[in-house]
Amino acid sequence: MTFSDLQLSEAVLRAVADAGYSEPTPIQREAVPYIFMGRDLLGCAQTGTGKTASFTLPMIDILAAGRARARMPRSLILEPTRELAAQVADNFDTYGKYHKLSKALIIGGESMSDQIKVLERGADVLIATPGRLIDVFDRGHLLLNDVKILVIDEADRMLDMGFIPDVERIVSLVSRNRQTLLFSATMPPAIRRLADAFLTNPKEVVTAPPSTPAENVVQELIVVNGDGTHKAKRAALRCIIDSETVKNALIFCNRKRDVGIVCRSLTRHGYNAAMLHGDMAQSARTQVLDSFRRGEVTLLVCSDVAARGLDIEDMSHVLNFDVPSSPEDYVHRIGRTARAGRAGRAVMIALPEDGIYVHDIEALIGRALPRRSLAGFEPAELTASTRRRRGRANTRTGAPQPRTERPARSRSAAQNRSAATATAAGAEAVAQPQVNGLAEAERPQVRANALSPGATDTDRKGERRRTRPNRESERAVVGMGDHVPAFLLRKPTISSKG
Ligand code: AMP
Repeated sequence: MTFSDLQLSEAVLRAVADAGYSEPTPIQREAVPYIFMGRDLLGCAQTGTGKTASFTLPMIDILAAGRARARMPRSLILEPTRELAAQVADNFDTYGKYHKLSKALIIGGESMSDQIKVLERGADVLIATPGRLIDVFDRGHLLLNDVKILVIDEADRMLDMGFIPDVERIVSLVSRNRQTLLFSATMPPAIRRLADAFLTNPKEVVTAPPSTPAENVVQELIVVNGDGTHKAKRAALRCIIDSETVKNALIFCNRKRDVGIVCRSLTRHGYNAAMLHGDMAQSARTQVLDSFRRGEVTLLVCSDVAARGLDIEDMSHVLNFDVPSSPEDYVHRIGRTARAGRAGRAVMIALPEDGIYVHDIEALIGRALPRRSLAGFEPAELTASTRRRRGRANTRTGAPQPRTERPARSRSAAQNRSAATATAAGAEAVAQPQVNGLAEAERPQVRANALSPGATDTDRKGERRRTRPNRESERAVVGMGDHVPAFLLRKPTISSKG
């Protein structure tokens, strides 16, 4: 099949040819005809499959007829992170270069007044992160009644980041007379229920089995004995980098504090490294990513902010400095390499007590990670039985848990999944206890955002609610630091069910 079989306009075909694509990817072959038919779509597809073009290409042609009015965008694309939103906006520029569509990008961390000015001129396409979109809406600069196509991208990531209540509110503001496209890399039951709520008689398109790493990523695991300071892991990381031909690498850490420590350590040892995490100002994030894309920076030490969707050409390595608590995060992290059919290597460093998390990853990907030893490092084994708690006390049960280093996002993920399940079923009272737990986990970000120049009203409200000193550098990176989801700011109600 060729792109011209997809009934795309001559202008879009020309733009696609300029991009160098010879044939549509499976998701493009399947999704484009349904989108042209006006059908709702439930797409189970990971980034890297050509998913973005599968909805941007037909949208450009559909939106070519008609004009946007001030403050009333004609289509809306929701993305969980600023980087993904910016990437989708770039896609519209690439594929829409022979059209005259106007677009607006509404994301946190950048001047809201500039974004509002663009909206005032009228936007055919609005690409947004949920928190900033709601801020702009609540200030009266946006009407969503004219949105005819709504795209909810990376729905499972939205769920993990606690954005679903915001997404639900946004969907309720969009006219029912719309076409809705929902994409998710995985289809857990909570996402299915959301799809039932948001989509009408959708066509379902599944391109790759969920949570399957690309075949051409060579994966390895190195177990080192820790010393409680991660010094041994940092030495192992340097040893790995020296023993590989690293063109460029993302180095993932679970905590933002470690992102800084690892980056500084590498720089001190003469490596060309920079860092990226959700508490950095948006301008700094953009600058670092641009330098990395241009090859000026070779090693980018990052939090899971970079795990999804980042499309960096020809990335040779993904190095996991920490074993992620959520096995899905592992798949997303290593999916940053071996893109577009290229080969890539993914090496993970584990401590013996990470055994249970490695086990979860191996169960998800359906194979054992080949072990590798490092010269100069005493061989170590994973301990199988301990599920080391990486979080604080269980806020639902009050059960004490050792305070170590579990990333809050994965706890949030589980809670968000059940919270979404509860809200989807209209059982708000059941969801409330989790909201309290999340508020605790999200607070560090509240502070960081409130202090940043791009902080929003929502952020500041969050800051005012902070009642005790915040040791933010010791907390896990939670999502992207984009905003505080509105539901976290609601006063919890005490349900009769307790
Ligand atoms: P995505 O899944 O949207 O993140 O896209 C992943 C990468 O695939 C991007 O770099 C796109 O530019 C590229 N891409 C999209 N469609 C095609 C295609 N039909 N052929 C080759 N590359 C493509």
